[in-house]
Amino acid sequence: MALHLVYGGTFDPIHNGHLAIACAARDALACTVHLMPAGDPPHRAPPGADGATRAAMVALAIEGVPGLVLDRRELERVGRSYTVDTLAELRGTLGASAPLAWLVGADSLLGLPSWHRWRDLFALAHLVVAERPGSALDAALPAGLAEALQDRWTRAPADLQSQPAGRVLRLHQPLSAVSATAIRARLAAGASTSGWLPPAVAAFIQEKGLYGAAAPAPL
Ligand code: ATP
Repeated sequence: MALHLVYGGTFDPIHNGHLAIACAARDALACTVHLMPAGDPPHRAPPGADGATRAAMVALAIEGVPGLVLDRRELERVGRSYTVDTLAELRGTLGASAPLAWLVGADSLLGLPSWHRWRDLFALAHLVVAERPGSALDAALPAGLAEALQDRWTRAPADLQSQPAGRVLRLHQPLSAVSATAIRARLAAGASTSGWLPPAVAAFIQEKGLYGAAAPAPL
């Protein structure tokens, strides 16, 4: 059965760092990546753009990119969306034996112990962890996290196909230092974001004047 790989994020806005890890995961695991914008993220301040707008930018970013698709389920859910609930819902749909995985960046993995019912995630899905500048996975992990992960690490993509959940695969992809926070700050300051955003997303942000970006003057 094909691996169902979900890539959740605020995507506020989606940027080239997101696309790079989605494509790296797609290629390493030979599967489709389901990009899932968070509706009401429990771990951070409300996003700068609303869910429909963030999803529209994801759709623009993945247009014509093979193997990347948009999943709107967290936007359509009323109330707070916890990853554990989303994975339980997907598990119910896919069945008990289907391989299911959640893609995160290294900074998100380090913050995992603050997630709602984080220890339950491993019974529901595998984790795929992308490296990210500034978030060392080799340094000592927080104690409870290191212990929870120690027997789960694998280097073999096949381990994510042959079991439904519970393994953690580290993705060794080219590093990208871009972040949505830096992009929002640059847009608000009128500075260049060249090379950080997919061109269609950059054009959309300018057209709508999002994040304080100066909208073009009317003709
Ligand atoms: P912000 O700066 O607003 O926190 P972000 O750039 O981290 O945003 P998110 O939408 O929060 O973007 O990220 C979604 C997921 O993608 C997270 O798991 C995050 O760790 C990961 N991620 C984002 N940017 C990168 C990157 N450049 N390299 C590796 N992982 C990344």
